[in-house]
Amino acid sequence: MSTDAVRPVTAGWLCLGLLLAACTLCGPARAQSATATRSEPKRVLMLHSFGRDFLPWSEYARSIKTNLEERSPWPLDIQEHTLLAARFIAPGPDGPFVEYLGSLYEGRPPDIVMSIGGPAAGFVQRHRERLFPKAPMVLTTVEERLVDRARLTRNDAVVSVRNEFVTAFRNVLQVLPDTQTIALVIGASALEKFWLEEVKRDVKPLEDRVSFVWYGDLSFEEILKRASTLPPHTVLFWGLMSVDAAGVIHDGKFALHRLHAVANAPIFCFEESFFGRDIVGGPMHSIPELGQKTADAALRILGGEEPANVRIEPIEYAPPKYDWRELQRWGISESRLPPGSTILFREPTIWQRYRWQMLMISAVFLVQAGLISGLLHERRRRRVAEVESRQRLTELAHVNRYSAVGELTTSIAHELNQPLGSILTNAETAELMLRAAQPDLVEIQQILADIRRDDQRASEVIRRLRSILKKTPFEVKNIELNDTVREAIGLVKALAQGRRITLSYLPVMAALHVKGDPVQLQQVMLNLIINAMDAISDADTGKREVSVATLRAGNQAEIRIADTGPGIPASDLASLFDPFFTTKPHGMGMGLAIARTIIEAHHGTIAAANQPAGGALFTIRLPVAR
Ligand code: ADP
Repeated sequence: MSTDAVRPVTAGWLCLGLLLAACTLCGPARAQSATATRSEPKRVLMLHSFGRDFLPWSEYARSIKTNLEERSPWPLDIQEHTLLAARFIAPGPDGPFVEYLGSLYEGRPPDIVMSIGGPAAGFVQRHRERLFPKAPMVLTTVEERLVDRARLTRNDAVVSVRNEFVTAFRNVLQVLPDTQTIALVIGASALEKFWLEEVKRDVKPLEDRVSFVWYGDLSFEEILKRASTLPPHTVLFWGLMSVDAAGVIHDGKFALHRLHAVANAPIFCFEESFFGRDIVGGPMHSIPELGQKTADAALRILGGEEPANVRIEPIEYAPPKYDWRELQRWGISESRLPPGSTILFREPTIWQRYRWQMLMISAVFLVQAGLISGLLHERRRRRVAEVESRQRLTELAHVNRYSAVGELTTSIAHELNQPLGSILTNAETAELMLRAAQPDLVEIQQILADIRRDDQRASEVIRRLRSILKKTPFEVKNIELNDTVREAIGLVKALAQGRRITLSYLPVMAALHVKGDPVQLQQVMLNLIINAMDAISDADTGKREVSVATLRAGNQAEIRIADTGPGIPASDLASLFDPFFTTKPHGMGMGLAIARTIIEAHHGTIAAANQPAGGALFTIRLPVAR
């Protein structure tokens, strides 16, 4: 094998090997540098005017950063510096700070510089040539008047706002038309002084409508004192308070809280960052709008657009917003707010706050109302039923009385016969005596008195009979129980005599008042006494006695009717008061059922028992009338 033949092959392999090695070495290196370019963070330098936490700029800066971070296609390295000199009434020279920044970023200037607020804009414009001349710059959160348009370079863009004092003050006059004075709270830094002069000039057209008071030359403590004793129809306008006339630095938010705590007048302001607690509201600069427009400009520039071509119109006030709590506090009617206004922080009504609880309570009320009306309806029905049942009871009782009185017919006839018989005898005697030559007038007078007494006895029997038979509605009266019982006994006295039964009555000594219907109570007595007499058979030769007694036991009046009959068989005791229970051949079995109904309608009780010595004992208890 010749070496010539081998050489080209070896050389070919060598070339391939070198090529592969070159690819292996160079390929990843190029890819690495591409990745590095893509992931290289963009350095953003933010230059604050008063400090990172100074309202209102701090809120604008936060919004700008959030917008940038959310929307940037590149990683960002945001670095923030503060131009503290803006706070001082007599600041030192800028030079050292420019140098400091220059040295900090030497060799690697920021990709973009953003100035926040008027003082920072002035600073970067003044030192544009020394301050990263090649880096693009965005002057943001700056009022139109604070931008030196003549000094802008092709490498500068502006996102400005327009403070329209007249619009803000006109809004105050619209919502509070009685306003006579507007007091402007403003500090004494260079920026604040500048603005004070601007406001004074701008509001000239309003001076015939409202007078202005300027607090620019007062310490904040003095402003607080004045704000607490303002005359009526005065309004405070919160301009700016970073440094007061005494040279004291103030954090805007805290200072405003203090003013709000003491002020006896409403506070207005056109900075949205102060909205949400202390100010009434109105047309204000919108923080999200400025944040979004600034981020738009910065991202376009970072993407390669020339800053001078990024033109953004000055931002005006957003549609007005009002704090509902302040509107309430100062009695500002919603009808006075300009069209398109938004009202925030509205306190939810009790319905909105406790919706579920209120719904539950309403449901409970509804159910309760338903129950109450148901119960009322039931009560009315029960009342009607009670009245009806009482009426039936009265009718039944009346029928029952007839049957009781039927049993008394013989004894009543006997009772009537007695006085009538003696009247006749006495009349005949008197007639005979009058025929004599010299009639004994004294004797005749006595006879006539006897006739009158007998007549009264007969009428009394008839009266009692009529009263027990009369059909009267159930009627509750205050009655003396002893008398009622005595009258009932009077009706059955003759019957007892006819049956050779001793009817005794032992009333309690003191008067016994109860509330009740005397006719119905007498009917009960009649029933019980007749039953007691019925129980003593004609053949019974032993003790024939029915004894009635009244007594008082606590708040109960008691009537006891005892007899010397055989008593009640134990098996009958439970059913004695049931309707139609009778052991008598011609009995109806309604007497005791009616008696119990009557006593219960009097809120009393009736019970039957056997006496140890034999015979039945019926006890009625009625509540004593107070
Ligand atoms: P009636 O007199 O028509 O039978 P009541 O309801 O007045 O109806 O009496 C029911 C029953 O109670 C009587 O049939 C009798 O058996 C019994 N009873 C009532 N009073 C007495 C009593 N004093 N002694 C024994 N049993 C009695």
